[in-house]
Amino acid sequence: MRNIFIFLALFIGQFSFAQKTIIYCGKLIDVKSLQILSEMSIVVEGNKIIDIQKGFINPSSNNLIIDLKNKTVMPGLIDSHVHLESETNPNAQIQRFTQNPADIAFQSTVYAKTTLMAGFTTVRDVGGSGVNISLRNAIRKGIIIGPRVLTAGKTIASTGGHADPTNGYRKDLMGDPGPLEGVANGPDECRKAVRQRYKDGADLIKITASGGVLSLEKDGSGPQFSEEEIRAIVETAKDYGMPVAAHAHGAEAIKRAIRAGVTSIEHGTMMDDEAIDLFKKYGTWYVPTIIAGKASSDSAKKPGYFPAIITEKALAIGPKIQATFAKAYKAGVKIAFGTDAGVYAHGKNWMEFVYMTEAGMPALEAIKCATVNASELLGMSDKIGSIEKGKLADIIAVDGDPSIDIQSMGKVQFVMKDGVVYKK
Ligand SMILES: [Zn+2]
Repeated sequence: MRNIFIFLALFIGQFSFAQKTIIYCGKLIDVKSLQILSEMSIVVEGNKIIDIQKGFINPSSNNLIIDLKNKTVMPGLIDSHVHLESETNPNAQIQRFTQNPADIAFQSTVYAKTTLMAGFTTVRDVGGSGVNISLRNAIRKGIIIGPRVLTAGKTIASTGGHADPTNGYRKDLMGDPGPLEGVANGPDECRKAVRQRYKDGADLIKITASGGVLSLEKDGSGPQFSEEEIRAIVETAKDYGMPVAAHAHGAEAIKRAIRAGVTSIEHGTMMDDEAIDLFKKYGTWYVPTIIAGKASSDSAKKPGYFPAIITEKALAIGPKIQATFAKAYKAGVKIAFGTDAGVYAHGKNWMEFVYMTEAGMPALEAIKCATVNASELLGMSDKIGSIEKGKLADIIAVDGDPSIDIQSMGKVQFVMKDGVVYKK
């Protein structure tokens, strides 16, 4: 009997000493009902949200209070399309020959921190040299500060395709990269390339189903994989529980990728009505990246910023994405927020919200794309994407009210990830 009392005393003691944090929210965005609630309290314990209550609840003596009474609070944002290893600059082509993996690693830590401080608590890195896998691990271990990262490692392309790492090289440097380097031709190599990414430690597969803008190749939109090849990639990725994100600008590439079963189409610039019908039929996600198109065409207007072959494509393709987004939104295509950060300066991810609302999407719906929807795309909707009991404590706050002025998405004043405050 006496032992039971001692046990109970210890048990109760445990509870009364557990540090809880109460966050007072002047306004709180309910990203599921698309409503703004006023005067709410969120209770956080460890890395989890354990309660949400109306009003500013009375703290007990060992509660920590975070006062965001003059802010608008929302779930940590999710960017489904970033490249944390690099950032646009006029020397990008030369850097392919001068940077060591360690140079890439060091700069990526800076971009990761900038991204977190902009309120993005989770990102999907859809391709780099593969250093992004170590970056993810270092953040996870708490060695460096950054968002929660899911990464594709290295993108898979066909020979000469958008993500062939030796595109534009002199012949003797070009070689013949294969599945190990993310280049695959035919279903067998496609399967091997997927398995190599799995072996490397990737969380998802990214492919370039069409040509692209910022690579040294002529065609920025034509298909670069057969439907059979994409199907081999999707089926193999499924074996390892990995979703497939397909970069695609041209309509034919978009249609092949959707029919082959990819999880998301990135950019989707030239989608036509038939492609829109396929999106809806297959339930495929659309990740627009409007800001990437605008930023690339802006850079292309600066003399000498890109090689001529890229300038032409950036001016032709870049400005089209916003209109495509408007059309896809009106048609009811499932949209997840993604920006292609790195193609423009990291930390400006929030500008995508401005472009989404310009194109006719209400502000709260755009925020839903970056929370609820993106969490579904990432397969993490049980953990992130909304402020609900039991979810991870990923919480941010901005000055102002984005439903009144979307520019306030650029005024992030508070960032909590996994229950830890990074900005206040
Ligand atoms: Zn990209």
